[in-house]
Amino acid sequence: MVKTLLKNKKLRFTAFRKEVLDVFLNTPNAVSIGDIEERLKQFDRITLYRTIKSFMEKGLIHEIVMPGDIKKLALCPAECSSVNHVHTGQHIHFRCKMCENIFCLDLHEFPEINIPKFKVDSIEIQGTGICNICS
Ligand SMILES: [Zn+2]
Ligand SMILES: [Zn+2]
Ligand SMILES: [Zn+2]
Repeated sequence: MVKTLLKNKKLRFTAFRKEVLDVFLNTPNAVSIGDIEERLKQFDRITLYRTIKSFMEKGLIHEIVMPGDIKKLALCPAECSSVNHVHTGQHIHFRCKMCENIFCLDLHEFPEINIPKFKVDSIEIQGTGICNICS
């Protein structure tokens, strides 16, 4: 699983990359850098930041910024590729007001929004409510 994921995104397999990726794979919701640090047994902060940066550049994970200065990271959909730091795997970000977790939700059809005269790279849709675990 981890090996294929890394290979698909043209990232070399290392024990540390696997450890970081496992944190994402074992969590249904988006995680903060602090959450990742808590789950790693031993790590060097610079290596961790570099790992996260390369994961983001390759379209393996993406950053989620929600109102209230909330910053999280989550796995990208399989079809995502990162072109000039713009991720192509479009989906919705949902914040649960009970557990405060943030989830990436896939849509069957992402609405197409045309804005005249503007060249739009991506559109972000954010929602809030109660997640499937809390409801
Ligand atoms: Zn992505
Ligand atoms: Zn919840
Ligand atoms: Zn997402």
